[in-house]
Amino acid sequence: MLAFRDVATAAYCPRKLYYRRQQPADAHETPPEVSRRRAVAFRYPDLLADDAALREAPVDVTPTQFRSRLGSAKARLDAWAALADPEGRDVLLSGKDCRGIAHKRFEGPEGPSLSLVFTGDPPETGVWHPQSVHLVAAAKALSWEQETPVERVYAEYPAHGVVRAVDVGPRRSAEYREAVQAARRVDGPPPRVDNDAKCKPCEFREECGVRTRSLRSLLGG
Ligand code: SF4
Repeated sequence: MLAFRDVATAAYCPRKLYYRRQQPADAHETPPEVSRRRAVAFRYPDLLADDAALREAPVDVTPTQFRSRLGSAKARLDAWAALADPEGRDVLLSGKDCRGIAHKRFEGPEGPSLSLVFTGDPPETGVWHPQSVHLVAAAKALSWEQETPVERVYAEYPAHGVVRAVDVGPRRSAEYREAVQAARRVDGPPPRVDNDAKCKPCEFREECGVRTRSLRSLLGG
């Protein structure tokens, strides 16, 4: 069975998934800084009420921005109360194709739902493509377990005070199925994606041997 993260990585670049699979298991342990940033998503009420705690929290925006963004999420999202105090935390879900962890699991206004907490920067709107695939993988697994459709899930970027609803829908489901197929096909190194935006931040850039645009222009190629 595939891990949610495998499918999300295949959506980013199948070759990256190939390299991840070559790594020892301890390379996939969660770094302490990621845990600290993720923990912010479980402390919203405290942080909103405690200036000193908010100033010390690993948050990338000002306290005013953090409060204002969470205030807008609270006003906008019917699931806010459940997100702020979820029934399940770090819950293992097993679906038909994939298994992995949902950081929050709760009964939302639309039925069973979940949230994944991302510690990087959010896009201007929506969620990044691999994160969309990751969310759908988790939604499908929850749906499989509960034997009921899961149509809306949530993405949190706590270091930015951003919480977004994500509707699963046909387009995201198709992208998810495509990523599952891509992950299943990986048995040797797939072709490079040749995409500077993806390759520049990729941790496997050196062993992959890609030349990003700046290097190509230096080399005149
Ligand atoms: S460097 Fe680029 S092509 Fe190579 S694994 Fe990373 S994203 Fe894929």
